[in-house]
Amino acid sequence: MNKRIWLSLAHMSGREQDFIKEAFDTNWVVPLGPNVDAFEKELADYVGQNCHVVALSAGTAALHLGLVLLGVGQGDEVICQSFTFSASANPIVYQGATPIFVDSETDTWNMDPELLEETIKDRLKKTGKLPKAIIPVHLYGMPAKMNEIHKIATRYQIPLLEDAAEALGSEYYGQKCGTFGEFGALSFNGNKIITTSGGGALICRTEEEAKRTKFFATQARENFPYYQHEHIGYNYRMSNICAGIGRGQMTVLDKHIARRREIHALYSEGLRTIPGIKVMQNPSVNVKSNFWLTCILVDSKIAGYTCEDIRLHLAEENIETRPLWKPMHLQPIFTNAPAYVNGVSEHLFQIGLCLPSGSSLSDEDIQRVIDSITLLQKKH
Ligand SMILES: *Cc1c(COP(=O)(O)O)cnc(C)c1O
Repeated sequence: MNKRIWLSLAHMSGREQDFIKEAFDTNWVVPLGPNVDAFEKELADYVGQNCHVVALSAGTAALHLGLVLLGVGQGDEVICQSFTFSASANPIVYQGATPIFVDSETDTWNMDPELLEETIKDRLKKTGKLPKAIIPVHLYGMPAKMNEIHKIATRYQIPLLEDAAEALGSEYYGQKCGTFGEFGALSFNGNKIITTSGGGALICRTEEEAKRTKFFATQARENFPYYQHEHIGYNYRMSNICAGIGRGQMTVLDKHIARRREIHALYSEGLRTIPGIKVMQNPSVNVKSNFWLTCILVDSKIAGYTCEDIRLHLAEENIETRPLWKPMHLQPIFTNAPAYVNGVSEHLFQIGLCLPSGSSLSDEDIQRVIDSITLLQKKH
């Protein structure tokens, strides 16, 4: 049996254990400490824009606290990109609010700005209220059309909570994803660009907001000698051990992104001449995906086979691939949520596939994937 090729695996630098050892040696085995402070500082320096970063237990926790800080509650509506992972939408429901799903455009596969504005107008007409927040997502690392989305958000004075869980290091007109909105969420889950084994962070615009985020993330304990509570809190802080892994990962972040982009270039070249297969590309030179995952679209009429045929064929070769995200408006759990759709994300879901893209994959691994797809094409 061939060696297993995974979609996206954790990829250590070797420095992680030094930071963890230091935490053990100094007995900082708690959800705060020098690694947490340093990791936050390094992330803030990395994303720039004078942002403040709070390290948390998960990207989902970051999105949740973003909504808490924006005052989202019972009876509110929050606009969310439909084409995404469920973790973008679930925290809206945690807050007792209603997700309003908006479909994608075809250039970036992210929130369609025109449809976003139509949605805002329609919600205002139907409910007499504006949605409380907008959650655009930079899916697979590809930056959403932030100029357009930001303009609309400003026009209606609705704050943006960016889901940049997959987009650490991606750039839009020279600015890092996660720094455009009121808040931005990052994830360090095991399959993301860098990992802390599990973790996330909330990018905040001001120090005051970062302080509030830390307050809510540590059970909302007021400043009293005894435990005094005036708000509902959460246990969402990142541990000093996990942050040690994060510090090790920061030393190779740029290298990992460069490798993901190289892998995307290898697929683009290797699959270029295969009829009916298109590799997702940056829509312009000002939009720079980190290419967390390289995705392809398969036109089965031209190719003679479907993306599901490719998935099954590669599975036999011990190569892991995955269909694109199933849109939230098609998920059974969200059937009752209002959705503004144009068919784009549903179509992408039907014809798209994510290819193995982890930064630890070798050129030979990528060639094996390309050869397997080429072989399938020759059989048709
Ligand atoms: C991974 C991911 C999240 C959630 O992050 P966790 O750290 O796994 O909680 C949220 N949104 C998107 C788009 C993701 O890919």
